[in-house]
Amino acid sequence: MRPLKATIDHKALLFNFNYIKKIASKSKVMSVLKANAYGHNLLDVAKTLINSDGFAILSIEEALLLRKNDFNQSILLLEGFFDKDEVKIASKLRINVVVHNQRQIDLIDQVKPDIPLNIHLKINTGMNRLGFPSSEVDYLLESLSSNSYIEDITLMTHFATADEKEGIDKQFKVFTQITDNYNHSASAANSAAILKFPESRLDWVRPGIMLYGLSPFQDKTAQDLGLKPAMALTSEIIALQDIKSGESVGYGLDFIAKQNMKIGIVACGYGDGYPRHAKNGTPVSVDGNLTCLIGRVSMDMLYVDLSNLPDAQIGSQVELWGESISVDSVAQFSGTVGYELVCAISASQRVPLRNINA
Ligand SMILES: *Cc1c(COP(=O)(O)O)cnc(C)c1O
Repeated sequence: MRPLKATIDHKALLFNFNYIKKIASKSKVMSVLKANAYGHNLLDVAKTLINSDGFAILSIEEALLLRKNDFNQSILLLEGFFDKDEVKIASKLRINVVVHNQRQIDLIDQVKPDIPLNIHLKINTGMNRLGFPSSEVDYLLESLSSNSYIEDITLMTHFATADEKEGIDKQFKVFTQITDNYNHSASAANSAAILKFPESRLDWVRPGIMLYGLSPFQDKTAQDLGLKPAMALTSEIIALQDIKSGESVGYGLDFIAKQNMKIGIVACGYGDGYPRHAKNGTPVSVDGNLTCLIGRVSMDMLYVDLSNLPDAQIGSQVELWGESISVDSVAQFSGTVGYELVCAISASQRVPLRNINA
């Protein structure tokens, strides 16, 4: 079997979850499991995070999968439903839905579900992605409160810059000016807000990335935050090349050797979800020694410098990220964020996931 695999450490997932429970002890925790639990496998992660007060996912299919596997806690569809059938399913299986536009309200009124829906009314407080303008909320709540197809209403918003220097002040003010006027539960904080703005934790928190042990911030590592990485992406050296000064390696001429070098070929490429834009110098660990990527990442393989690792050979163990190399550092060398990398591994459907400490 090809040696590339992703190992999911469930003890780390649980550690991160318990950390959130501890710091946000007054809030209910809605674990965000979209994108196949950020690439860590939906059902396996749900099982480990069974003590979550709720799960947030994207599609009705994911919600069905959770219900079929006897997860009975509250489940929230983050974009709500897209058609009448989904309204019916959500009602029948008691799946909570985000309602963010008038079309969704119209669909509920047309379907007239037997069991009224619990909704999270999404308010646009400045991100300008999903949600009703704050100016419409009073009017909306008046009509929704008397809508017999709707039972419970939670007020929800999402922050655009919780992880940046702008913070949440502007959006949070708009949101609390609304929530203060009503008795509805409120939900706002993603990972960055949970960590940096305790006042935003409210009734529900919605952690995603921090559950998986990645940092939501550019300037703080997961380790700084006390989080444990849950995914390790590992492979092996499958070939060695000795190249002479002036020679290059792989496609293009992105890297030209300044002296004679020993190169290792690693079974992992962009077809597996490793970022193609990872630059020369991206950290890689070989048999526990820190070295780096050179040349351009291929679809199935990448290249590492073994010049200072005389013992490295075919079969040497390679960590692309995990315990010693953070996903965030690889992301930084690739001009992206850790979120994209962990999702890409599972989206490729080429990397077997293996659970430990489950
Ligand atoms: C993805 C998502 C989250 C989780 O965000 P993280 O930055 O991963 O913590 C929370 N709320 C909504 C609406 C989301 O789409």
